[in-house]
Amino acid sequence: MRIGIDLGGTKTEAIIMDRGGDIIARERRPTPQADGYDAVLDNIATMVAELEARTSHTCSVGIGTPGSLSASSGLLKNSNTVCLNGKPLKTDLEARLQRPVRVENDANCFGLSEAVDGAGRGHDCVFGVIMGTGVGGGIVFRQQLHSGAQHIAGEWGHNPLQEGGPACYCGRRGCVETLISGPAVVADYRALGGDESRDLPTIVAAAEQGDVIATTAMQNLYRHFGRAIASVINLLDPDIIVLGGGLSNLAGLYTAGAEQARKHVFNDEYRSIIAPNQNGDSAGVRGAAQLWPAAAD
Ligand SMILES: [Zn+2]
Repeated sequence: MRIGIDLGGTKTEAIIMDRGGDIIARERRPTPQADGYDAVLDNIATMVAELEARTSHTCSVGIGTPGSLSASSGLLKNSNTVCLNGKPLKTDLEARLQRPVRVENDANCFGLSEAVDGAGRGHDCVFGVIMGTGVGGGIVFRQQLHSGAQHIAGEWGHNPLQEGGPACYCGRRGCVETLISGPAVVADYRALGGDESRDLPTIVAAAEQGDVIATTAMQNLYRHFGRAIASVINLLDPDIIVLGGGLSNLAGLYTAGAEQARKHVFNDEYRSIIAPNQNGDSAGVRGAAQLWPAAAD
């Protein structure tokens, strides 16, 4: 049995997955971020104990969370659960749970889940994409995650896309994330003179009804997406790119966005598949469980 934990800034979700990949128990709790680092660790330990009480097994534990463990120091960085930043999350959890624990970036867990038993099943190379508040990605070869020498493999959201473009929280300008995330589309729409009260869903709806400014904002999104993902395709040439996160519901990414990508891919034919995810909101927590292989009896 494998326990997977999706540790987010506001909620923590945990599952037990059986050998066949079925989820046999699930728990959700608020992440007690305001109470500090130890409270977050306690919360995870409690959830693991409660899930294990439902089985007769000691389970492997995998954790997906925004950010990454520094390859040099082992400390977590870039997490939106800010009380975890600078902390040895993996070693502290291993001490508390008395077993090895695997910790990975949440977009990597998403990619792994989709590669193992989602939209990428059966494909050799899968690039999993998260497009929501931020933009992330994970690279999976033959169902094995590629984390990279410094644990940043797949972080295409901070590739430079537009010189002098919008400021990014990472300190640079014009990162992919500043042009194709949810907040980026809203900011672009407003900069074009759009209604300040509209959020992303109402901008999308307005574009569908022919609103000129909303349509321009969506076309900008698809153009930027195409240029950004073409760089990934030229470098990695994945068999399939699986989209997740809030923006993955936008049908235009698979049509207009893919068409824009085709223009920039260095080949006389275009075979790159861009597809929506199949594991939905469970992809992250499933991938966390799948950081460990299924036990072979
Ligand atoms: Zn950035």
